[in-house]
Amino acid sequence: MSDYIFQPVAPASLPIEGVQQRFPVHRVFCVGRNYEAHAKEMGNEVDRSAPFYFMKSAHHIALAVGEQPIASRTDNYHYEVELVMAIGKGGRDIDQAAALDHVYAYAVGLDMTRRDLQAAAKAKGRPWDTAKNVESSGLVSVLHPAGKGFDPNRGEIGLKQNEQVVQRADLSEQVWRPEEIIADLSRYYCLQPGDLIFTGTPAGVGAVASGDRLVGWIEGLADFELVMV
Ligand code: MN
Repeated sequence: MSDYIFQPVAPASLPIEGVQQRFPVHRVFCVGRNYEAHAKEMGNEVDRSAPFYFMKSAHHIALAVGEQPIASRTDNYHYEVELVMAIGKGGRDIDQAAALDHVYAYAVGLDMTRRDLQAAAKAKGRPWDTAKNVESSGLVSVLHPAGKGFDPNRGEIGLKQNEQVVQRADLSEQVWRPEEIIADLSRYYCLQPGDLIFTGTPAGVGAVASGDRLVGWIEGLADFELVMV
């Protein structure tokens, strides 16, 4: 007999390039305002004293492929292309110098956002959950294991919407470097294998419409292609 009164939901998971087993997703941390030009386009200043975070539920992660749903209750559902880090080795108070050793794999993903609800929440000083923690809002490419020469601090990151480049930047423009994010986050949470970290989006965010084809990439790492419906 099972310990549970009903079958627990199976863990969300992502495929890994060249590996048969999947990566089980535990928690999903997201960094806000990690590119100056994006902070500006949203009418904000980058806070250089510390990064800040919000979260998505693990079950809101999906492989960035095929048809993906536009969320309910929004007239302004935005794409945000981001570098995603998949933690393979946990830890608390991780040293910045060793932080990237905790990354099992990297990917390129989308932090889909109900921008209208986020703006309303900001105006009222309310939390962002219904704007950011949206079903199917964490769309992630196939994971690419670390240690194959990819440097999360350089290389182009970009997104095309129907053949038009809408976001394009270099990972070197991140305000908080990936190793700084891991070190800082591990002072608030004991990081665990399975945690994902979305590292923030560059400028150029915008709304999607049904039928839009989104193609995202990080130079030398990964890409994805999907259609919003
Ligand atoms: Mn984001």
